[in-house]
Amino acid sequence: MRRLAAILTASSLLAGTAHAAEAPSAATIKAQAELKKTLPFADRQDFDFASRGFVGTRSDPVIRRADGGVAWDLSAYDFAQGEAPATVNPSLWRQAQLLAKSGLFQVSDTVWQVRGFDVANITFVKGATGWIVIDPLTTAETAKAALELVTEKLGARPVVAVIYTHSHADHFGGVKGVVNQADVDAGKVQVIAPEGFLEEAVSENVIAGPAMSRRAQYQFGYNLKPGIEGQMSVGIGLAVAKGTTTLIAPTRSIARTGETLAVDGVKIVFQVTPGTEAPAEMNLYFPDWKILCMAENANATMHNVLTPRGALVRDAKAWAGYLGESLNLYGDRTEVMFTSHGWPRFGGGVVRSYLADHRDAYKYLHDQTVRLMNAGYVGAEIANRIRLPDALARNWFNRGYYGTMSFNSRAVYQRYMGWYDANPVNLAVLEPADEAARSVEAMGGAAKVKALARAAHDKGDYRWAATLLNKAVLADSKDAEAKEALARAYDQMGWQAESSLWRNMYLTGAGELRNGVPAPAQGGVGSPDVIANLPSQMIFDLLAVRLNADKAGDGALKVIFAFPERNERWRVTVRNGVLLAEPAGEGEKADATLTLPRPLLLQSLFTGAPLALKVMSGEAKIDGDPLAFQRLTGWFDRPSGPFPIVTRPD
Ligand SMILES: [Zn+2]
Repeated sequence: MRRLAAILTASSLLAGTAHAAEAPSAATIKAQAELKKTLPFADRQDFDFASRGFVGTRSDPVIRRADGGVAWDLSAYDFAQGEAPATVNPSLWRQAQLLAKSGLFQVSDTVWQVRGFDVANITFVKGATGWIVIDPLTTAETAKAALELVTEKLGARPVVAVIYTHSHADHFGGVKGVVNQADVDAGKVQVIAPEGFLEEAVSENVIAGPAMSRRAQYQFGYNLKPGIEGQMSVGIGLAVAKGTTTLIAPTRSIARTGETLAVDGVKIVFQVTPGTEAPAEMNLYFPDWKILCMAENANATMHNVLTPRGALVRDAKAWAGYLGESLNLYGDRTEVMFTSHGWPRFGGGVVRSYLADHRDAYKYLHDQTVRLMNAGYVGAEIANRIRLPDALARNWFNRGYYGTMSFNSRAVYQRYMGWYDANPVNLAVLEPADEAARSVEAMGGAAKVKALARAAHDKGDYRWAATLLNKAVLADSKDAEAKEALARAYDQMGWQAESSLWRNMYLTGAGELRNGVPAPAQGGVGSPDVIANLPSQMIFDLLAVRLNADKAGDGALKVIFAFPERNERWRVTVRNGVLLAEPAGEGEKADATLTLPRPLLLQSLFTGAPLALKVMSGEAKIDGDPLAFQRLTGWFDRPSGPFPIVTRPD
């Protein structure tokens, strides 16, 4: 889980809906009932674990930002009571009920967690003099509210250390809600993280930011409201808080497994797990207490080996390997396990079988995907065929509420083979809209395609209905009848989806077919704390991918960017439609030299405010040929609003 929430807040799409969602069909009701028969709903152990040690919660369910907006609402999922309605997959309904158990929980004599205050958990470990905080949530507002609750229920103690288990924003973004930079600088608070944390934390999503955040709107259902016809959690938590993402750089990094620290008198052994759920991640073991923290490596769901919003593919084999290593290193000496999402597990036997069966699920995913791949099957064939064996699939924690076997098998294939399936027909494919238009024509025209889709829909064959209607919509994005019919197929697929993310993606797709692409989100400058930690090279990498080669043509020039407050000078050269950035020497000649504080350049990059305006206002100074500089800025794409996904650009 990641992504800076600030970019992603948007007004609800549901307002002014022209067409309501389609009621659950007979086929959907039947599918929900059949799934229900196959899973052990009578097993209530998770409900026991998720409720155990409840201390209390805050009286006001709403956590607000300084501007008065809602960062989090603890009552948003109060509707999820009793039996699943037909619009929600019963297995997902159960997961959302578990995730909705929020408040302060005592995990052991020395460990407490605040759960359900954000997408992740924040953990408070009792040290000799104060709290060791593990993973301070996504936003300062929610982390502060969690600490306030701890103080209210357990008494005031200082936070003396923060541990980030990994480099995703939902595990560090709220740090300034529990400690401040001055206390860290003064040595009063230590901040511990796995090696490589800072670079991964700030670089995540920078280059591909606009595409990833747009796709994240689908994955997380940002424009859906929580509800039985809307968003039903994100599988690892209810939703992502909408507040201020902050960052304090670590003061101590952990590079190898077995490293041991005494933090405020608490002995902690670290297991580093790079390249699992995050590029920089680590588990924690408390030998004196027989407690194991599995970070985000063993959530109560199958995780994403490749996230639908887009990211570099992860390694299912390494993931399984590290789970096995945890089991071997700590399994025999663990009585309680907690994680940064979901709820703890109690009892050595419970923890050991959890880790073993979770490991087996990732290993099975990897090995069986590769076996089928080596037998010549391609991505869609493997995705349709691969299933966990019953013994693994009946474990609730192996169900696909976040990642799915289908999607993850694509990830394994991609890791080894890439997107190409080796069939030469796929080397030079037509563009989707062109292919769709020709297919619709070949099938006898849009009316025929829609009739075929209607028949498929009436039989409950929503995948085929959607396949046909997607062609009709791509062929003619003004065909309102086809768009509504496709939205209705997505409604049913959303109701049936066990994966919260698939549900979010189907329902968001349906919403956009009915109401169009959402308006641009407010803000979009990103978190100042995160941006301040970006190396300048990364900022120029971002500038380079904004260069529109068509506009630049055969233009060439050299501009120096000087950031006086950082004592940095960068030579930016454009040639052959390519932007290169390298450190520049003092007094080096160029067509123009732009002197400005670096945040100004960033602001311009993120908001599209033309740099020329900053020069005119005197905030930036230009030496040399102002026209050269104007040419350069004219070659950049302005940041654009949300792009269409279920239709193509006109
Ligand atoms: Zn997370």
